[in-house]
Amino acid sequence: MKILDVYIEYGKTSLDRPFSYLYDGPKNVEPLFRVLVNFGKQTVMGFVSRVQETSQSKEEIEEANGFSLSFVEEIIDEEPLLNEELSRLAGEVAEYYLAPKTAVLQTMLPSSLRPARSALKGPKIAYETWVRLLDPNEEGLTSDKQVEMLRLLAENKEVLKKDLGSPSSLEKLIELKKAALFKKEKDRFQIPEFEKEQAHPLTIEQSRAYQKILSTEKEVVLLQGVTGSGKTEVYLHLSEHYLSEGKNVLMLVPEISLTPIMVEYFSRRFQNNVAILHSGLTPAEKYDEYRKIASGRARIVIGARSAIFAPLSNIGLIILDEEHVESYKQDQSPTYHAREVAIMRAKHFGAKVLLGSATPSLESKARAMKGVYEYVEMGHRVNEKALPSTEIVDLSKPYNRIPGYDVFSKKLIAKIKEKLDRHQQIILLMNRRGYSPYIGCHDCGYVYKCPNCGSFLTYHKNDNMLKCHHCDYVAKYPDKCPECGSTKIKRTGYGTERIVKKIEELAPNARIARLDSDVAKVRNRLNKTLEEFRHEQYDVLIGTQMIAKGHDFPKVTLVGVVQADLGLYSPSYRASENTFELLTQAVGRAGRSKESGEAIIQTFNPFDYAITTGAKQDYEAFYKKEMENRKIGKLPPYYYLVVIKVRSKNQEKAAEAAYDIKADLEKQQFDKVYAIGPATPYIAFQGGYFTKTILVKYRVRDELFPYLKALGKRLSGRAGVELSFDVDPIDY
Ligand code: ADP
Ligand code: ZN
Ligand code: ZN
Repeated sequence: MKILDVYIEYGKTSLDRPFSYLYDGPKNVEPLFRVLVNFGKQTVMGFVSRVQETSQSKEEIEEANGFSLSFVEEIIDEEPLLNEELSRLAGEVAEYYLAPKTAVLQTMLPSSLRPARSALKGPKIAYETWVRLLDPNEEGLTSDKQVEMLRLLAENKEVLKKDLGSPSSLEKLIELKKAALFKKEKDRFQIPEFEKEQAHPLTIEQSRAYQKILSTEKEVVLLQGVTGSGKTEVYLHLSEHYLSEGKNVLMLVPEISLTPIMVEYFSRRFQNNVAILHSGLTPAEKYDEYRKIASGRARIVIGARSAIFAPLSNIGLIILDEEHVESYKQDQSPTYHAREVAIMRAKHFGAKVLLGSATPSLESKARAMKGVYEYVEMGHRVNEKALPSTEIVDLSKPYNRIPGYDVFSKKLIAKIKEKLDRHQQIILLMNRRGYSPYIGCHDCGYVYKCPNCGSFLTYHKNDNMLKCHHCDYVAKYPDKCPECGSTKIKRTGYGTERIVKKIEELAPNARIARLDSDVAKVRNRLNKTLEEFRHEQYDVLIGTQMIAKGHDFPKVTLVGVVQADLGLYSPSYRASENTFELLTQAVGRAGRSKESGEAIIQTFNPFDYAITTGAKQDYEAFYKKEMENRKIGKLPPYYYLVVIKVRSKNQEKAAEAAYDIKADLEKQQFDKVYAIGPATPYIAFQGGYFTKTILVKYRVRDELFPYLKALGKRLSGRAGVELSFDVDPIDY
């Protein structure tokens, strides 16, 4: 007879402990095997954390324990889910991020291998379910969500089911015979074959960087290189070095859309040693790639955030390109940052972590300046092209603007026309999607807000809907004001859709493409649009931040930032840093080959330091100023942050628990620990739960974290309150 300690599949703080079950069958069972067990009258999946042999009978065990035990229903695996290194990593991640063990495993593993019942539905299917439009008529639909979905289908004819969202809306569309499911054989994922390419000889600056990265004793290196300084070539040379020593390489990029380019670079150099891992792959693809890596058939893994958990062994080098980008942080439990996990893994293998960026995060830069990380700089562009010349245009001055166009300056439009005449390309950055961000009644002043979270609703012209950008609420465009009945609906402000319309008016012969997450929602449209723009099928690309990062468009000579200050008023402590980074990245898109580039930055705040230093690409000046502000505000990198989230179905209980926690925390009188709140987060009510948050600022973990962990165990699940933590939050 065996006694098994089993963690069950619900990744909640309150259930983050093992429950005991018995097994008396012929199968082998070890830690990190998945099992099915009965939990609260339901069959759930779990994973084994400990196995004890015993000669006692069920009755004797129960007698000794004082409670009854049940037998596991089934043992699923024949080998442990993770190797030793990864299972240790899982423990370390759970510990650092105060996250339930099950939640960590579910994040680390591809869906078919997760400890979750959904994994049983079969991973290896080579089919995907698609949805086809049958009838675009909106009659009979019972919710606006359904209308939105039908309009998306009407526009695209066929959409991958998992891209559509809301299963209940889809069911309704199918029931009404407006849409139908069909299966398509999925192209098994394959990296195209690229011709082998010889390495470029490094420039003097690159070669100095390369040598220093290899020779330093320090585990982590920050490579700060201006845009166009050739960081990728350095990554490739370093990879070659480690591969030749028999070590393997993990290459992370911040966004899925940047993987194909990186895969091409690496495949050209190293042929078929490359595997890809990111959340955009289908479960079957991900399973294949996962097996390929685990079995040692791939020596280089390229992917976005989650690839940091790739089952690659014998790692010599982990690279995070554009290390400052926020998408390296997961916003759900476990709230891990790929950079921290990289450092954990590197410790195990004695590997090196290379952080590359033109605009490092303040945290990384500060650690490099303190000598915790090695610091390597590349200040020149490979082609010696000067950085683009930039100009700030003050939109608050009416004489700068084109009459009748409140976000277009004479300067920008004249430049656009000049570039069009020369057949050069233009990028316009507008970091807000939709048509206009405020919709109100002209007569009584009523403003449309989200009934779930209270934020302003954005009008989307494409499908004629009002949408909340903070939760998933949608509504049909109103025909009259709900307050006074007036039919005069007013739209105020700008989003990408409206910028497209205005440019069409101002430059009628321009061929324009738009890219934002509304467009990118439908599979392949992102890559297709980028490809078409690269092949000059468009003159102007208008989009949100997704067009600012990483891409190399040789024909672009003008970057216009339509409203540079949009991000400055976000409630996050990183608002200035994000604004600075976005501007630097955007400006860096111009003039990357023969022709020199220019950038025009329009703003209502021409004197804000994030904007002035961003326009000049003056990282050091920004860093200095922002560090002063962070010091005054007791913010990272001077202080660390952790957010305690209290959730309950009952609003009062959530608030009460939050106040209790704060009082208890203050009673501890930890040195240099400050608790702020409780506060109500932006999305305070979602999925039937109310949330309250407490922000804690601290300098050392030693006392605080054991306390928080105990707190999680003590309070969570009691009286209908659930606790969770966001360690090192970035959007607070
Ligand atoms: P970064 O990522 O630092 O912005 P890239 O890696 O995109 O810069 O490099 C900019 C350009 O310079 C690319 O077109 C790249 O192919 C080219 N390049 C980089 N290193 C070399 C080299 N040593 N010799 C020739 N071309 C290079
Ligand atoms: Zn009205
Ligand atoms: Zn909302």
